[in-house]
Amino acid sequence: MNSENIYAEPLFLNPVLTHNIWGGTRLRDDYGYQVEGNDIGECWGISAHPNGEGTVRGGAFDGKKLSELWETNPELFGNVGPGGERLLPYDRFPLLTKIIDAKDDLSIQVHPDDEYAAEHENGSFGKTECWYVLDCDENSSLVIGHNAQNKDELEDMINNGRWSDFIRELPVKKGDFLQIDPGTVHAIKGGVLILETQQNSDITYRVYDYDRLQNGKPRQLHVKQSIDVITVPAKSAEDSVRHFADTEVNSVVCMYECKYYKVSKISVQGSMQFCQDNPFLAMSILDGAGKVNGFDVKKGDHLILPNAVKNVELTGDMRIIVSTI
Ligand code: ZN
Repeated sequence: MNSENIYAEPLFLNPVLTHNIWGGTRLRDDYGYQVEGNDIGECWGISAHPNGEGTVRGGAFDGKKLSELWETNPELFGNVGPGGERLLPYDRFPLLTKIIDAKDDLSIQVHPDDEYAAEHENGSFGKTECWYVLDCDENSSLVIGHNAQNKDELEDMINNGRWSDFIRELPVKKGDFLQIDPGTVHAIKGGVLILETQQNSDITYRVYDYDRLQNGKPRQLHVKQSIDVITVPAKSAEDSVRHFADTEVNSVVCMYECKYYKVSKISVQGSMQFCQDNPFLAMSILDGAGKVNGFDVKKGDHLILPNAVKNVELTGDMRIIVSTI
C-alpha cells in the first residue's frame, strides 16, 4: 500500500453535538467543538446512527455519511470477500463512540439485550456499552447496579419508588473503566465526563428521572420494560469498576473485550508502531496532539483507520481510545 491509496487514509468524522437537560459547556470549552448553548450533553464522535450521523471530513470521501460508506465501500471496513460477499455479521456500522458531559445527573436507565430489542423494538440491536472516565470532580460517583436481591424486591422498590434503597452508587475517578452489560441499571452523575463505546443502538428504558420536568412535563418512564430486562441480582461492586489511569506508554492496552467490541487505551509519548488485523479501527483522541500515519490529529478528533491500514504509526504526546469489533 502506498500513501496515495485512498483506501488507506484515515476517515476523519465530523461529530454531532446534542442538547440535553443535564448537559453543560465542556464539549465546547475543553474539546473545542463548535456548538452554541449551555446544555451540550453529548458528542457523537463516531456514529452511523440515524439519530446523529457522522460525515467524513476531508479526503477522498469528504461529505459522505458513515452509514453510506458502510454500504458503498464495504472494503473500508473489511466487509467484502473475494466474491463480493459481505464478511461481517452486521447490516450497519456496528459501533458508536460518544463523549458525554454530565453537568447534572442523567436518568437512571437500563438497556435491553439483542433478543429483547429484536422482539420489542422493531428489530433494533440491544445495547451493550462501556465507559471510560475522562475527568470528574472529586468524590464523584456513578450509578451501577442496584440493591434488590430478587425480582419481587426489584418490583417492590421500583413500583413503590424506594429509590434510595434501590440505587447503587459507586465512587469513580479519572481513568476508571466500567462495562455496562444489557440489564445493568446505570446512570452518569453530574460532574463526570466520559467516553462511551457502545453498540450502534439507541434503545434506552428510563427507570427513574428524579421526578424532573422537561418543558413542564416529566419525561416518559419505561417501568414494565425495565422490570423485564434488569438483571437480578446485579454484578458485584468490585467487578464493576477497573482502573486504567496510568497505562504503560507506547503500548496498546486492552481494557475490555466482549462479543460486541474490543476497547483499548494508548498513551503515546514520542513514537510507537503496531500492526493490526482488525476489520477497522475507530480512534478518539482524548488529549494532546500528534500524528497518525503522518496525518495531524489533536484532542477531540475522531477517526476510523480503514481495513487497508495494517501498520499504525503514532507520534506526539497524546492519549487515545481505540475500538474495533
Ligand atoms: Zn446507557
